[in-house]
Amino acid sequence: MKYENREEKILENFLGNSDRNCRVRIGNWLSITFLTLSRQMNLHDPIGTVSSIGPIYKKRLEKLNIFELQDLFYHFPFRYEDYSRITNIENLRYGQKVTICASIFDVSTYKSKNGKSILKAKLYDQSGVVSAAWFNQPYLKNQLDTKTEFHFSGEIKFFGKELTITSPTFEKVNTKNPVNTARILPIYPETNGLTSKWLRKQILKLLPLCIKKLPETLDITLTRRQNLLTIQEAIWKIHLPENNNDIELAKERLSFDEFFQIQTNAVKKRNDWSKFLKATETKISKNELDIFLKSLPFSITKSQEECIEQITKDLSRKTPMNRILQGDVGSGKTIVAAAAAFAAIKNSLKTLIMVPTEILAAQHFKTFTNLFRANNVKICLITKTHKDNLADITIGTHALLNLEREQYKKVGLIIIDEQHRFGVEQRSKLTLLSKRANLYPHFLTLTATPIPRTVALTLYGNLDLSVITQLPPGRKPIKTFIVPQSKRLDAYKFIRKHLRSREQAFIICPFIEARETLNSQKAAIMEFARLKKEVFYDIPIGLLHGRVPTKEKEKTINDFSEGSLKVLVATPVVEVGIDIPNATIMIIEGADRFGLAQLHQLRGRIGRSNKESFCLLFTDSQSEIALKRLRAVKTETSGTKLAEIDLRLRGPGEIFGTRQHGFPTLKIANFFDLNLIQRTRSEARELLESDPNLERHKNLKRAIEKRFNQTITLPN
Ligand code: ADP
Ligand code: MG
Repeated sequence: MKYENREEKILENFLGNSDRNCRVRIGNWLSITFLTLSRQMNLHDPIGTVSSIGPIYKKRLEKLNIFELQDLFYHFPFRYEDYSRITNIENLRYGQKVTICASIFDVSTYKSKNGKSILKAKLYDQSGVVSAAWFNQPYLKNQLDTKTEFHFSGEIKFFGKELTITSPTFEKVNTKNPVNTARILPIYPETNGLTSKWLRKQILKLLPLCIKKLPETLDITLTRRQNLLTIQEAIWKIHLPENNNDIELAKERLSFDEFFQIQTNAVKKRNDWSKFLKATETKISKNELDIFLKSLPFSITKSQEECIEQITKDLSRKTPMNRILQGDVGSGKTIVAAAAAFAAIKNSLKTLIMVPTEILAAQHFKTFTNLFRANNVKICLITKTHKDNLADITIGTHALLNLEREQYKKVGLIIIDEQHRFGVEQRSKLTLLSKRANLYPHFLTLTATPIPRTVALTLYGNLDLSVITQLPPGRKPIKTFIVPQSKRLDAYKFIRKHLRSREQAFIICPFIEARETLNSQKAAIMEFARLKKEVFYDIPIGLLHGRVPTKEKEKTINDFSEGSLKVLVATPVVEVGIDIPNATIMIIEGADRFGLAQLHQLRGRIGRSNKESFCLLFTDSQSEIALKRLRAVKTETSGTKLAEIDLRLRGPGEIFGTRQHGFPTLKIANFFDLNLIQRTRSEARELLESDPNLERHKNLKRAIEKRFNQTITLPN
């Protein structure tokens, strides 16, 4: 009696005005587990210390990123199977997934011709009889008590000529709460030795004990305004939905949380940045800028002009610029960056340009030297082995992080090329090194990773975004072909033919790992040896990978760009950004292993002149999805579209590489939900306006810190 009262109270608190049915069901749950309720559980208990779990399951759960009790409740189903409706046996049809409520007779086991053990039984209710069969689970026989009524959930198929419910899960009907039958069954991401069945059992045992403790991260006014469930309702319904509407509502609330936390974090960073950080106003007159632009060998595109305008406007402010410049390969980002550097120079400020590879550094050095030839600007290149004095523009890899203290003086602008290759720490280290008194440098990031606008809004919510949307005039689209192994020799013949007319070819080895490792180097070395011996024995051919010594690397690039090398074999990582106008052919080995955006970026190395260019995608894959992806590269010429296609086909992790690049991982929200992204963004802005440091939103703050694995502090 006493327990029932407490139970009632908890239910009242939890459910508020929810419907009675739901209340009864939850009541059932609670009464099973209520006695243990006194054993105070903490949401932050390590998962291994939960009594029903233990060390073996702890390991498995950790593979699913479940480390503490609360993580278990945030392990969401990725789909559901609806076994909630109970069907009469007379109404069973082939192909249905159903639950029946039946008793058993005639249980037997035997071996099939191919040695499978088969357990058969007849099931009956008032309306009829149907067969059931289980395969290789003879031990279930002992559980099939003929005196008990069971719920059986499974699929109706033909077994022999007989309509049969195959391998059904079953539970006694008088159990108060079915776990694996007779309800909408959540299907969870699983791992070896850890099934949805097991997860259901645990979640259903533990959730009622903990549900009241789940911290609410949103204000009640916000949940009302946005028509959202409370967090406790949402977590309950995502695991224990009564109907599809429950699932939708739960998903909406939980998706809202994901975006809201990402946006709040981004908007907060942005606010802090603009409120607390100061920079030198770096002004340039339209006149001065025009003189510089007129000195270029071509006129800039409308799109480049707009981007330059946005950037120079940012530079002229007292707040440091934090802008990302996005543009397809070959769209001409370098000029835009150069215009920014020019503005810095005119204000007697220095520019640092950080790029991911030494090859790219060398190339930028050459390009910038050419661009500023007429302007008496001192440019220097920093490599692992070579450090120069401070110039107006200093170009280098992360070697830039280890300059003499002196050399960071008067740095007013930092430009980072291909940002996804650099970690956040490297960025902020460079910023701090260049900070003078309380003045921060302006920041410009260049990226060719084509990111759909919705994703950019989420991913770079704390940055401003400029996009170069048009390519310089006169570019011919690259002809792309998917080449099966059987046509390999024809492809080599094709290359030979083009080499004769002073054209050149890249051969890109398969993508093996996200970072270049010994494996990918070995693959490149072997492919190089094979081609040199068997295919292009009479043709000058070069090799590039991360282990090639710098001097040799520079020589190879130089020889290739001057045309004395005709074919260049390279790993996928090393080639980023190089500009060789005569290169008109690219072979990409193992093309199916690449992200589409990555393939697009690679092929952007060719097609840089007015000659026709060809990209040959080699693949062994027969997989439909692989071919579908490659066909998209063949027909689609916009990098952004390709990224979007890949995002739909494979999810964000695959496109942008690992988490360490700061790509927010979404468990439940959908990147294409522009509406939700906008709603969460404006709510995040509003919230931070009234509570800029989240002092009155401790739960939200904690959730964000957990999500981003960071501590929120004020910038110093
Ligand atoms: P990315 O955006 O890939 O860094 P680059 O800045 O390397 O592209 O530019 C690619 C090529 O296009 C370079 O050879 C550059 O000189 C040329 N280019 C850039 N802008 C223009 C333009 N407006 N008109 C003609 N050629 C241009
Ligand atoms: Mg570039």
